[in-house]
Amino acid sequence: MPALLTIPIHSIYVAMRGTDHQLSHCIALIGKVGEQVSCGIYEQRSSSCKEVMAGDEQCNKARRAYNLSPIINQPKEAAEILC
Ligand code: SF4
Repeated sequence: MPALLTIPIHSIYVAMRGTDHQLSHCIALIGKVGEQVSCGIYEQRSSSCKEVMAGDEQCNKARRAYNLSPIINQPKEAAEILC
């Protein structure tokens, strides 16, 4: 994880820069929210990023913040490909 892309949360944990503001997004997100986006550091993304699956609670919470409809009934295999 490139350190320039993170902000310290406390002595152990960091967060992706840009996720510390309401209605903002991670600095590594490429594209336009609501149109098409992708992770610019996909292979280096954190374990917490890897845990999020398309259509899960965290995903749909983020979608709601941008007034995007939730993803429902996403097959697990497809969710792993999308995230
Ligand atoms: S998956 Fe990529 S773009 Fe999304 S929060 Fe993690 S590092 Fe940022």
